[in-house]
Amino acid sequence: MGNSSQAIPGYLYLVPTPIGNLADITTRALGILQTVDLIAAEDTRHTGRLLQHCQISTRQISFHQHNTQQRIPELIELLQAGQSIALVSDAGMPGISDPGYELVVACIDAQIPIIPLPGPNAALTALVASGLPSNRFIFEGFLPTKPKVRHEILQAWAREPRTIIFYESPHRLRETLTALIPHLGPTRQIVIARELTKLYEEFWRGTLGDAIRHFQTHPPKGELTIILAGSSPQTEHYSPEDIKTALQQRLQQGLSPSQASRELALEMHLSRRYVYGLALELVQKSSN
Ligand code: SAM
Repeated sequence: MGNSSQAIPGYLYLVPTPIGNLADITTRALGILQTVDLIAAEDTRHTGRLLQHCQISTRQISFHQHNTQQRIPELIELLQAGQSIALVSDAGMPGISDPGYELVVACIDAQIPIIPLPGPNAALTALVASGLPSNRFIFEGFLPTKPKVRHEILQAWAREPRTIIFYESPHRLRETLTALIPHLGPTRQIVIARELTKLYEEFWRGTLGDAIRHFQTHPPKGELTIILAGSSPQTEHYSPEDIKTALQQRLQQGLSPSQASRELALEMHLSRRYVYGLALELVQKSSN
């Protein structure tokens, strides 16, 4: 019953929408959007354009990060009264770096049935064509901007063996790539998927060091999804200069040579004594 394209009274539907190419809307998504009583949309004007294109005239209500708390009880009440609701975000899968999660939790608590529809999603679309291992991966959404939280995540990535997927805006790409280097080293493989499903879809593949050089002269445009290879001790080769650059950054952040060496040795899978030796060379050089 729940697998039909006809909405059932009192059900919440999670409906993915295209991430660029409008032809990627599924037949089932169209059926549900057409037959629900209400569409809860992240941006009603944005979704309005999709609905118009698909000739769907279902009523919309806004549901975004700034009105979530107010809207959830309203939507639960409507669902309990027997209305069917489709949740959509601006693009892709609702609940993935988009509003949705809290409504799902509230519906589970209220024993309201939830039907997720499969469909477009930038992270998985980028992963499967990246050429990096897709059997085990982690998804991190957008990197936090708070330096401390970000630092902790990057430290964890240094030793993360699974493929890493995250979202980034084009104007922050170069800064983010630069921040990755001290943790992951310049030889880590990276794939930057741009404008997926759109006219200028592109996959850039190479090392982190090459990516910095490339995007310095070719500023990225459009939407980006980034895929990083997981850490693999066998394939990472750091020159003493790479290690010193990473050490220098940490010393400038106020870490002692011993703390900086401990952190880096762990991240780069190197001997702590070797890294500490390089740290002492740096300290001696700067005091001469
Ligand atoms: N819910 C969406 C999904 O399932 O993919 C993600 C929403 S998140 C707010 C938007 C981010 O996803 C963009 O900033 C970009 O990093 C990534 N993204 C969305 N569409 C994309 C596309 N066509 N190509 C590459 N990345 C895309």
